[in-house]
Formats: sequence, C-alpha cells, structure tokens
Amino acid sequence: MQVRNFINGKWVGASIEKKFVSLNPADTRQIVAEAPLSLREDVDRAVKSAREAFPTWHSLPAPRRGEILFRAGELLLREKRKLGELVTREMGKVLGEGLGDVQEAIDMAFYMAGEGRRMQGETVPSELPDKDCKSLREPHGVVALITPWNFPTAIPAWKICAALICGNTVVFKPSSDTPASAAALVQILEEAGVPAGVLNMVCGSGAEVGEYLATHEGIDAVSFTGSCAAGERLEGLLGRMHRPLATEMGGKNAIIVMDDAELSLALEGVLWGAFGTSGQRCTAASRVVVHEKVYEAFTDMLTRAAAGLRVGDGLLETTDMGPIINEQQFNKVLEYIRIGCDEGALLVAGGRPVTAGDCTHGFFIEPTIFANVTPTMRIAQEEIFGPVLSAIRCSSLDEAIRIVNSVPFGLSSAIYSRNVNSTAKAEHDLKSGIVYVNASTIGAEIQLPFGGWMHSGSGHPEAGGRGGALDFYSRIKVVYRDYSGRLQKAQIDR
Ligand code: NAP
Repeated sequence: MQVRNFINGKWVGASIEKKFVSLNPADTRQIVAEAPLSLREDVDRAVKSAREAFPTWHSLPAPRRGEILFRAGELLLREKRKLGELVTREMGKVLGEGLGDVQEAIDMAFYMAGEGRRMQGETVPSELPDKDCKSLREPHGVVALITPWNFPTAIPAWKICAALICGNTVVFKPSSDTPASAAALVQILEEAGVPAGVLNMVCGSGAEVGEYLATHEGIDAVSFTGSCAAGERLEGLLGRMHRPLATEMGGKNAIIVMDDAELSLALEGVLWGAFGTSGQRCTAASRVVVHEKVYEAFTDMLTRAAAGLRVGDGLLETTDMGPIINEQQFNKVLEYIRIGCDEGALLVAGGRPVTAGDCTHGFFIEPTIFANVTPTMRIAQEEIFGPVLSAIRCSSLDEAIRIVNSVPFGLSSAIYSRNVNSTAKAEHDLKSGIVYVNASTIGAEIQLPFGGWMHSGSGHPEAGGRGGALDFYSRIKVVYRDYSGRLQKAQIDR
C-alpha cells in the first residue's frame, strides 16, 4: 500500500521523494506500506491548512460536527473486518484484538458524535440580582496529535474524534511503524465528510517532524502518546511555551493475587494482562504480586498455562499471541530477559525467540515468566513492553500494595480477592490512574477518562469521556451577563 500525506483535503507526497516502509512483524518479507519521510516544510503546509480551516470548522455547530463523526462511526463499522486485518498485518496483534482496536474507534466516533449535542459547560446562580453566570467550552485552535503503534486505529481515533467535536482542527503524526492503519482511519473520516484542511496527516520521523510539529508556532495544544523518553522531552520543550500538552506514557502495571482469590479467574486475568498484544499495551500486566500462601501453586498454574500459548501470525485462528512490533523492540525484550537472569530471577517459562515453522521470518518471543523476583530488580521496575511477567511474593495486602506502588509509573493496577474489605482498600490505596477489581489491568472503556499518574502521564487524562478528552480538547470561557442596567460590584454590593 502506498501511503501519502493528507493535507488540505488532498493525498500528497512529501517535499522529497524519500520513503520509509512498515513491515509485517509476523513476516518481515512482507512490506505493508510505503510512506513519505516528510520534512519540516510538509509540517508547515499541514499546519497552515489546519489554521485556515479552523474558523469555518469552529463556527459549524457542534451537533453538525457530531453528524460527521456519526457517519465516520458507521463507515468504521462497515469496514471493521478489513481495518482489523490491516491492524494485525501491520502491527501483529491477533485478529480478535485487531478488530477490538477498530471497535474502540467505532465506540469513540459514536460517543463523541453524541457529545456534539451535550458539550456541557455550567450555569450557576449569581450572588447579584439580574445577572447570569455560565461557563462555555471553546476549542484551542489547531492541535497536534502524535500517536504510537500499539493501538494504531484506536488511539488516533480517541484523539481525533475528541479534538474535532470540540471544534479544533488537527495535524496528526502517526507512528512510523503503522502508517497504513493511520491512513485508513483518515480515509474514513474524509469519506464521512470532514472538510478539507480540518484533519491533516503528516508521516515521518518522530524526532524530526514529530518534535517540529509539537513545537511549531502554529500549534495551540499537543497530545502525545508514547514512550517516557519522547514524552518527557516534549514536556521539557513545551513547558516553556505555555502550550497545553497531554502526555500518555509508559507503565509497569501489576496485579495482586491474594490468598482468598478465585485462582482460576486470576489465572485468566494475569495471562490476558501479561500476554495480550504480546505484552505491548501501556496497561499490560508485567508484575504479578502473589500472596505467599498461594505463590507456589499460582506460579505453577501460570507457568503451565503460558507454555500452552500458541505463538504465531495473528491472522491465523490458532494463534494466541503474535509477534513483537520491530527488531529494535525484539532486541530490547531479549535484553531484559538476559537482565532478569543476571539479576538472579528464576526463569520458569519461555525466555527465547521463536523461530520454528511459520515464525521463521518474524519477531516472535515465547511468553516468558520469571519467579522469585524481588521488587527492586530492574525487570520489576522498568517498562519492558513485551511478553515478560515477573512473579513477586508478598505476605500481606499492605505489603502487596507497597510493592505495586514502588515503581515510578502509575497507569493501571488490579487486585483479585474475594474479601470486600481487601478490594476496597486496594481500590483506595493503589497509586494508579486505573484500578481493576477481579479483572485484569487491561480493558478500559471509552466513556470514562483514561490516563496515568507520575511517569505514566501528565495526570490529566486526554482520552475517554467527559473529565478526560472533552476537558483537554476544550478550554473554558466564563461569561457573566449583567442585565440590571446599573453598575453591580461582586463581593462588594452585599
Ligand atoms: P515512541 O517511540 O515514543 O513513539 C510515539 C510517537 O512519538 C511516534 O509517532 C513517534 O514517531 C513519535 N516521536 C518519537 N520521538 C519524538 C519526539 N522527540 N518528538 C515528537 N514525537 C516523537 O513510543 P512507541 O514505541 O510508539 O510506543 C510505545 C510506548 O507508548 C510505550 O512506552 C507505551 O507504554 C506507550 N503507550 C502509552 C499509552 C498510554 O495511554 N499511556 C498508550 C499506548 C502506548 P516515530 O514512530 O516516527 O518514531
């Protein structure tokens, strides 16, 4: 597939002919897409187009903007199978998850379409007679959206739909690993009737065009999802520019399994959390903190179940776990497995690349479990972003919560227990933006805010429902209307 930039309603090449490719990580002999390696001039053009389109888009009533998003939701639904297969081919997750990626985009399109008829501000009583007090939501202007590869349809859709419904225009820089999935989403929005210039897409290197875009003088707000390294760099650069920035970054999520947990349910949740999307979710469970009374039995159950997971091409029905996204990430995961062994953790499952049969040409790694991990080991502290799980022992709920909270991240955490007091305490004391009770660390729904604390993000969710996306993509204007016909002084005339 040939991907082009999308600027001012047209699919165009970059200023130079240079291209990059996205490969199928399950079989790197297959090129999924060729995309333009854009230059700064291409960003300039996209920002200019978004700026020019802003006044008209802003003045279109929000319910009408919502109708366009509703049509996009319908088109995404119509194309769900095709788009899901593309996600799997380009990014590697198994087809069920590829379809789930698209479903999130569908959900967000319909949800934000409805927000076009709500978009509430507040109306409150005034302390003075004949005076109204209210707040309104206004768009920022042009927003820059920078996205990762692990949810190549869902994350761009979260951002784009929310930005558009609030009346912003957009310049979107997708991950260089997934330009085809990004282009497919933009095509749907174009077909749904998003006017020329309102949504623009520029492909190219993050360090080059991503950073230039985020710091461009024509940009009014920036939303970034990706690694801590890139996100924190943007925080440093944009902090000085007084430009709203939302960062959604890495995680080191954990599941607590107490001695009174239903172990078979916890087993399913831990396997799904650790090995779903090959562990390449920001909310993936990479630590399981198990009560000592059930530690041996539970790690034994986990080890046997992990060994039974079938690794392969995500398009095959027989596959439970797909490949790692690219060579760099593949090497990074193997390096962490080596670090775990060197640190003295006990490798009880997996640990090696998979190269046999259909896996010869892909980036496959066995589902890997370390036992006897201590909380301060690097494999228990740092984000690996692959199918590697550390099993840590604890002797009480308090200790389990301390261990979970001992990392610099705070995105998602979970507890399995049948004791209502234990789950309530965990819900209260776990330091993360999302807490699951008797469910895995993954499975957020779009109608609630989604975001991490500490190094996992700016702490202001820019995804999900009101309190999340709408609050980030709009800014508040307060209006006081005095119809008394005389000078009234708040606080003083009392
Ligand atoms: P990444 O390398 O940081 O890339 C993310 C995006 O940022 C890509 O579009 C990338 O472009 C661009 N980029 C890279 N350096 C940049 C810079 N200096 N300035 C501006 N843009 C830059 O992350 P990734 O490997 O794609 O994604 C994996 C990471 O994302 C993990 O850490 C994961 O936890 C995190 N993540 C977080 C969430 C969340 O909601 N908290 C959700 C999903 C993923 P190129 O692709 O061209 O390099």
